[in-house]
Amino acid sequence: RNNAEQFQFQAEVSRLMDIIIHSLYSNKDIFLRELISNASDALDKIRFLALTDKEILGEGDDTNLEIQIKLDKEKRILSIRDRGIGMTKEDLIKNLGTIAKSGTSAFVEKMQTSGDLNLIGQFGVGFYSVYLVADNVEVISKHNDDKQHVWESKADGSFVVSEDTYNEPLGRGTEIRLHLREEAGEYLEESKLKELVKKYSEFINFPIHLWASKEVDVEVPADEDESSDEEESPESKSSEEETEKSQDEDEDSEKKPKTKKIKETTYEWELLNDVKAIWLRNPKEVTDEEYTKFYHSIAKDFGDEKPLSWSHFTAEGDVEFKAVLFVPPKAPHDLYESYYNANKSNLKLYVRRVFISDEFDELLPKYLNFLKGLVDSDTLPLNVSREMLQQHSSLKTIKKKLIRKALDMIRKLAEEDPDESNDKDKKELEKSSDDDEKRGQYTRFWNEFGKSIKLGIIEDAANRNRLAKLLRFESTKSDGKLTSLDQYISRMKSGQKDIFYITGASKEQLEKSPFIERLKKKNYEVIFFTDPVDEYLMQYLMDYEDKKFQNVSKEGLKLGKDSKDKEVKESYKELTKWWKSALASDNVDDVKLSNRLADTPCVVVTSKYGWSANMERIMQSQTL
Ligand code: ADP
Ligand code: MG
Repeated sequence: RNNAEQFQFQAEVSRLMDIIIHSLYSNKDIFLRELISNASDALDKIRFLALTDKEILGEGDDTNLEIQIKLDKEKRILSIRDRGIGMTKEDLIKNLGTIAKSGTSAFVEKMQTSGDLNLIGQFGVGFYSVYLVADNVEVISKHNDDKQHVWESKADGSFVVSEDTYNEPLGRGTEIRLHLREEAGEYLEESKLKELVKKYSEFINFPIHLWASKEVDVEVPADEDESSDEEESPESKSSEEETEKSQDEDEDSEKKPKTKKIKETTYEWELLNDVKAIWLRNPKEVTDEEYTKFYHSIAKDFGDEKPLSWSHFTAEGDVEFKAVLFVPPKAPHDLYESYYNANKSNLKLYVRRVFISDEFDELLPKYLNFLKGLVDSDTLPLNVSREMLQQHSSLKTIKKKLIRKALDMIRKLAEEDPDESNDKDKKELEKSSDDDEKRGQYTRFWNEFGKSIKLGIIEDAANRNRLAKLLRFESTKSDGKLTSLDQYISRMKSGQKDIFYITGASKEQLEKSPFIERLKKKNYEVIFFTDPVDEYLMQYLMDYEDKKFQNVSKEGLKLGKDSKDKEVKESYKELTKWWKSALASDNVDDVKLSNRLADTPCVVVTSKYGWSANMERIMQSQTL
């Protein structure tokens, strides 16, 4: 082999491969969808580049943006080939082994505890799943900027890259050849491959073809049936020739009855998927199952779970686009990691059916980065650079509409959850059949993504009220369950003006707090905020539905007026005065008669704009 060079896998990649090879994981099927997904990504890339430079596609077969699967039963080789962008020699070395992605070690760690191999694609290391079924893998690739090269590894810690002077030239693209392991024979069955494509890759937007065999009846002269042996070779004829021939023979047979029918195997490319994009279809005609499958493929999330919710809509007017948004069933492992500097938008942007990018952070604000889905716009221009697209004026409108739709979808998730409604409403509502399916869904949402809603309240002033509606928390009256601001307001005592809350490390600690003694006795409800982000949240959330928020550990707590208040205050005037002078003014701002205590004699209260004790605690833990 020419210029063969050996490379060591980066250490984490090597560990990952070890885990995969020795995995007892039973669902080995996943490798195929990972390869198809990579092929589809590579096709997206070349199609995008071709928008501004048609030449890039080349000519003839190279312009067919497709994926082809082929089997060689004798040699036990399964190959998947695409006419995508391909890889240069350098790409092969970097992408397939020497540079670990951020997800590599995260995935290795996960796999050592309770990880599910099925999630491999989400960690950006899907390629290595080939070693679930193969003990030797060749990647043949041709990129426009380089000669054809082969990457090969037996997963023994190293791989070899060489210039390819022996395989057939690919034109452009990549062919992955899997030398299947002994026990992976099922992947040499066409029916198995068809089943897998149907199951996992139905929504790939490029045609997936299988070089599939077909039994046909052929009539041959009775005395010449021996010759059919040499016609067995799969490549030697296409089905077209076959039918022409049998027609000819039909005519012949009228004259000469001395023929007999035999079965022959021919091969042809069979299309395995329906390439009509799901988002172009009428939402009424798309089934729940199809949405779920589409979610799995777009989010690379192949758990068995359904997305919590979705919204499929068309925006009309000045800016036209179609979009499908999904709320995943679970938050990804790194959702809040480096939240402020990571660019992790999960929406794919298409312009007139052509994939443009999945790194377009102009589509959604950061706090909605947990959503998955896509946008296909007819308004955006096709043949401009990504940079110019990023500045296009209609993006603002798209973003605004997407936020609105996303928040509507989340609100509906709450409204349709029978656990969310008040007891009173529950009895009024007829119990519907999908009640059970929707029960508890909002709590699930809140547990996974509640923090995102809080970050949204902090960041998105324009939608603060909409987001506040989605807020859930526990309170002195929530009975261990989650409750909302609307429900709080519905329970407010007559004469109560403010919404009371307290912040701290845990509900258990707050329940014992002297700050809420009297409020509890007087039957006022107090919200418990126990997440560190809540302190910041409450600096932004000043009011809701004309009610102000009052931290009950801060100055300014007003309960309903008591006629004796003034009298009592007067009678203790001397004492509070003495106390203030005794404590010296750099220790306390003021000493007042408290209206919040019942059993505790005294308490330290924070001034209106000061840091609460909980905030002090959080700041301390951050600077340590
Ligand atoms: P991911 O697809 O999440 O990036 P993978 O482990 O599946 O992770 O693939 C690693 C990288 O290898 C890809 O990012 C891509 O650069 C490259 N690659 C894999 N398959 C192909 C292919 N068929 N054509 C071009 N590049 C590919
Ligand atoms: Mg991949």
